[in-house]
Amino acid sequence: MRSVYFDHSGTTPVHPAVAEEMYRYLIGDSFGNPSSVNHLGLQVRKKVTEARDIAAQAIGAAPGEIVFTSGGTESDNMAIHGAAYTNKSRGNHIITSAVEHHAVLNTVKALGKQGFNITILPVDQYGMVSVDDVAAAITDRTILITIMHANNEVGTIMPIAEIGKLARERKIVFHVDAVQSFGKIPVNVDELGANLLSLSGHKIYGPKGIGVLYIRKGTRWRQTLFHGGAQERLRRAGTENIPGIMGLAKAIELAMENREAESARLMVLRDKLIKGLTSIENVRLTGHPVKRLPNHASFLFKCIEGESMLISLDMKRIAASTGSACTSGSLEPSHVLLAMGIPHADAHGSLRLTLGKDNTDDDVDYLLEVIKPIVEKLRNMSPLED
Ligand code: PLP
Repeated sequence: MRSVYFDHSGTTPVHPAVAEEMYRYLIGDSFGNPSSVNHLGLQVRKKVTEARDIAAQAIGAAPGEIVFTSGGTESDNMAIHGAAYTNKSRGNHIITSAVEHHAVLNTVKALGKQGFNITILPVDQYGMVSVDDVAAAITDRTILITIMHANNEVGTIMPIAEIGKLARERKIVFHVDAVQSFGKIPVNVDELGANLLSLSGHKIYGPKGIGVLYIRKGTRWRQTLFHGGAQERLRRAGTENIPGIMGLAKAIELAMENREAESARLMVLRDKLIKGLTSIENVRLTGHPVKRLPNHASFLFKCIEGESMLISLDMKRIAASTGSACTSGSLEPSHVLLAMGIPHADAHGSLRLTLGKDNTDDDVDYLLEVIKPIVEKLRNMSPLED
């Protein structure tokens, strides 16, 4: 049976060239500790410097502004926690949006329990944050704004550059979670006006458990979570994950080489999926129709449980997701869809199809062919049918 992977926003397969690069640092004599003053350590240290240069160049940063972390969740936590506590003497107000990934939302909420005053901005029907709402929420006590570049569940691209401009004018630290956008649309820290920016390896054909936190030089931020050694210039203690860092650098190189052509190719497939699926009765697109990630298609199927849809598709060897992969397993519908004003019952019928490098036009045809009878069958069985 044909096997199709449509869950690239959940995670991506490790690119063979990335795996090869990582393997080099798992075997032989490339195991040195970059903090060790011996030839093995120095050799690896040089490679980490090269990897840092690659990461910096990809987002328009300086190498000294790049910190390697264990992934998007850690980068988000470090960014938010560090900025909040470093700026506590100036104020205690933090602004975020209702559709952030839990790595951001739950971190901000945790700070809310520790005496910070938090504003969680609403979004419109497309999951978009309004720049005017951000402007209206800013007070003299605001010390941090954290808004994602693109949403993982509905693919909507936020007006980050405009929010960055506001933050800069008001001298407020601005954090951007670019985990989903990086490698798909341009991510440049100056254009976005970011002080802090999070990236993750496993969304770009790199390994899991590695990521980047960009920290703009001069940002009022210091390390507040980990206490330990002086690695990453005192910004992230712990012996570096060398195979991960080397794999991430390779993945970034490949992403930069292929981004434009690949995004253009995927956009055609995405639009075919959207056209095909929204032609089915009572199926609609979620997220912004135009300002959306080039590989991202997400839908609501009326009178269908997303979980049942996933299982039926999986039996046809199509891997998709409903809402966020990180929240599936719990019965609560996605906080993103609820924030977009979608009623509780409808929000259960969500399906996310996110495309990647191995997907072809035939994969899209296959999905469109198998999904129609699945929808019919599930709707016939559904107690939700009206
Ligand atoms: N931020 C966003 C927008 C994400 O989509 C994810 C993962 O799905 C994360 C953060 C967390 O990244 P990681 O899995 O590397 O911890």
